[in-house]
Amino acid sequence: MSNGECLFCKIAKGELQADVVLDRDGVVAFRDINPQAPTHVLVIPAEHLASLEMVAEHHASLLASLVSAINEVARNEGVAGGFRVVSNVGQSAGQSVDHLHLHVLGGRPMRWPPG
Ligand code: AMP
Repeated sequence: MSNGECLFCKIAKGELQADVVLDRDGVVAFRDINPQAPTHVLVIPAEHLASLEMVAEHHASLLASLVSAINEVARNEGVAGGFRVVSNVGQSAGQSVDHLHLHVLGGRPMRWPPG
């Protein structure tokens, strides 16, 4: 399923230009337009899911593909062994695009708590 108005659905379908670094098994990864670290890639399902909260048991294989893509992106970006994965859920957590996305951040020291 896709949502015609959704920015990330358009990127997944190739209707909107993005710097795509991986596209397979129903997962697309592309560089964040406003990077917060030397490596900042967004990993998304091609299928429209509004956020991590919409992931259910029947998405098990999609979840495995997302994690596999995250690890491949980290290796390809040269940050394997030192990167952060973030998914903001809801406005109060900073979610600004209502299509599930996992931020893969790396290439600089990361502080905690994230704030
Ligand atoms: P979030 O605030 O967690 O929902 O993350 C949304 C992310 O999408 C932000 O880091 C934005 O910089 C990024 N973003 C928004 N539009 C685009 C776009 N067209 N291409 C790539 N990244 C985008």
